[in-house]
Amino acid sequence: MRILIVEDEVALREGLRDLMVGDGHQVKSVGDGAAALELGIREPFDVVLLDLMLPKLNGIEVCRRLRAARPSMSILMLTARGEEDDKVAGLGEGADDYVTKPFAARELLARVRALGRRHLGNEGAEVIRIGALTLDLAQLQGDREGETFRLTAREAGIIRLLYRSRPNPVSRAELLEAVWGSRGDLETRAVDMAIATLRKKIETLASRPQMLLTIKGAGYCWRDS
Ligand code: CA
Repeated sequence: MRILIVEDEVALREGLRDLMVGDGHQVKSVGDGAAALELGIREPFDVVLLDLMLPKLNGIEVCRRLRAARPSMSILMLTARGEEDDKVAGLGEGADDYVTKPFAARELLARVRALGRRHLGNEGAEVIRIGALTLDLAQLQGDREGETFRLTAREAGIIRLLYRSRPNPVSRAELLEAVWGSRGDLETRAVDMAIATLRKKIETLASRPQMLLTIKGAGYCWRDS
């Protein structure tokens, strides 16, 4: 599996890395919340081991944003004793499981494997097929009437969020926050531009979209007809 380790304590981070590499996984690791968010949105991982107390952006916030951008990724929170409330908050923000430090290596490996099995079971949800259009959100590619094209991670994030929210519309502010990781200080025009580019890739006629619909006053909506 592809595993992202997010832990600011160097010794623990290295220990986790060795443990996971030793168990046959592909591992990347970072030491703060902002780096975790950036890497987790840019690259697909099967499981994220996410420390709760992190510099720059705390684990709860990273969890919430990663969950929005990549719903099928499994998130395992690493909490310290006495952080019970935060643990509950983490699960509320979409963490799949948690372990309390200090934990036994065997226990952690068992949890990670369990999450991996669940993840593989969800894999199909990352491929969307509508008529002559296929979108593979995990592989960041699509095919329309035999012509293949690439998707950016951001475009895949937009599709994922709209597709999962259908038939309800998603506001520009929600898209900005979930896909760009911004709390509305960024121009909503960035969303409109990204949608326009995406329509050119996936719609038969970008000027008359059939899937990526604009809902006046509400935002954007995915329609699979
Ligand atoms: Ca920490």
